[in-house]
This record gives sequence, structure tokens and C-alpha cells, in this order.
Amino acid sequence: MKNSSRVFLRCRICQELKEGIKLKSYNLKICHDCFLTFFRRRVQNTVAKFRMFKKDDNILVAVSGGKDSVALAKVLKDLGYRITLFHVNCRITEDNYSEISQKKVEELAEREDLPLKIYSFEKEFPVDIKLAAKISRREICAVCGMIKRYILNRETKDFDVICTGHTLNDEAANLLSSFIFWNDFFVRQYPVLEEKGSLKKRAKPLTFTFEQETKLFCEILALPYNPNPCPLVGGSYLFFKKIVNEIESEMPSAIINFYKGFLKRKKSLGLIKRAEEIKLEPCERCGYLTVAKLCNFCRLHEKIQKYLGTLHQ
Ligand SMILES: [Zn+2]
Ligand SMILES: [Zn+2]
Repeated sequence: MKNSSRVFLRCRICQELKEGIKLKSYNLKICHDCFLTFFRRRVQNTVAKFRMFKKDDNILVAVSGGKDSVALAKVLKDLGYRITLFHVNCRITEDNYSEISQKKVEELAEREDLPLKIYSFEKEFPVDIKLAAKISRREICAVCGMIKRYILNRETKDFDVICTGHTLNDEAANLLSSFIFWNDFFVRQYPVLEEKGSLKKRAKPLTFTFEQETKLFCEILALPYNPNPCPLVGGSYLFFKKIVNEIESEMPSAIINFYKGFLKRKKSLGLIKRAEEIKLEPCERCGYLTVAKLCNFCRLHEKIQKYLGTLHQ
């Protein structure tokens, strides 16, 4: 493990005095060896509980090169699942972010002997992500997320399910934000979304795993990952992540209870029925299921064409 601040403690699981960590959210002192087992078991239980996928499924794992998706790929491999890595390079040049991230993903694929597909943003759009966000007048993270979801869905014809590295911190932050803005995101939010028409099945096996744990998992196993967050991340996403982290450090276990409480109440709040009632129609241009005539991806294409057209006049 790279970390210089080594801590030795009496592990609550194996009772031995070993190098370890105190997981505040569970009030648990645990040694590194027991932590790896704890981490894998939690993911395995989440996959089983929500029937995310089976051992013989063909699984695509979206890997950004950050600690969460890298940990996800490794743990699924360790658990014996058949996975392929998929990386979208968004061509973010600040801090060499995209270059470093892709390199880390390539290192991971080689080290773990995993198939890897790389998809480049510039193949799709003639402008970079910052300009794309400006043209569509949306936050960069929202545009980036939309594009990645779309591309992942389009490029996965041979796969049974798409897995993403969303953690408990991400899910709680998104949930909190959708309650503040009432943007209906919470209607569809769930650890697994079944296949629907042209929309592939999606699963979030780290939905009950804290970011502190994915980081520790990567560090103990010395996995290659980009430790720097995306330099363009900002706006409301970052704000809600910060709030979630503050709540977690003030009141350990509050965040897990918040998220589990929501999942438990989803049915009684009538949200499962409402999610089923959302009418999705195929996009007129590409066939992707959407609530409008054109999907967000095709709308962005149209806006960029218009913008470039006005520039060239
Ligand atoms: Zn132990
Ligand atoms: Zn479309």
C-alpha cells in the first residue's frame, strides 16, 4: 500500500493486531485482509439482492479511470464475472486529465488481462466538451454524463448489462439534489434498471459502497487509477457531493440510512408505478428512447451544427 500513514489496530473480524483502518460509517475497525473480503462480499450481496447479472452474462463495465470504476472492474473480476472494460475519452486537456485516465485504464486492462474498448469523443463531435456544454447551455457534467450514457448504450449490442461505478456517495448526492430541485430523477433512481426497448439493462453494484472504501480497495491492491478528479467538475454536482460527505462525517451511517430508507419507501410512495408510466418514444433521428421528439444526444448534434453554421457565415 502506497499510503505513508500506516495504522495498526486490533481487527474486529479476525481479532489480530494488523495494519488496518477504522470505517467510520460502520463504526468498524478492520484489517486490510478482512477489508478486501468485506468489500467483495458487499458487492456480491448487492448484485444478488437486485438480480443485477449472472455468472454467464456478458458484462460491460464503464471505466473512467477513477478509483470507483477501477475498483468496480477489479472486484467483478475477482468475483468471477465475465467483464469487458469500456472507456470513453472525453478529450479533456486540463491537467492532462483524459490522457492520464486512459493510460490508467490501459494499465488496468493489461494487468488484469481484461478486454478493453476505447471510444473517443472527437469521433462524435467536432467541438470539445466545454464548447458543447456552452452551446447547449447546460452544466459540463450533465452534458458529459448524457453523452457517455448514450454512447455506452449504442456500443453495447453484444452485452447483457452495463455496469457503472456509482457509489453510495454519488447516489445519495443525486437523490438529495433531485429532492431539492424536484427534477423527478428520484422516480427512476434504483440500483438496477431493467432493459426497456433500445435501452440496455444498467446496474450499479457499488450502490452500497462508500467512496472511502473504493479508494482503500484500490490502494491496498495498488491498482492503477487517476487520483485527480476531473478538472472540469463543478456546479451543483460537486456541491451535493460535498454536503453528503459532511453529513457522513458528522453523522456516520446517516447517508446509508437515507439511501436505504428511500429504496424501502419507493413502492409506498407510488414511485415504482410512476417510473413505469413515464412514456418513452423512439427518437425521430436515432431511435433511442426519449421523452421528447429528439433525444438529448441528437439535439446536441443539431445545436452544434447550427452553432458551427453561424460561425462560418
Ligand atoms: Zn482482520
Ligand atoms: Zn437521437
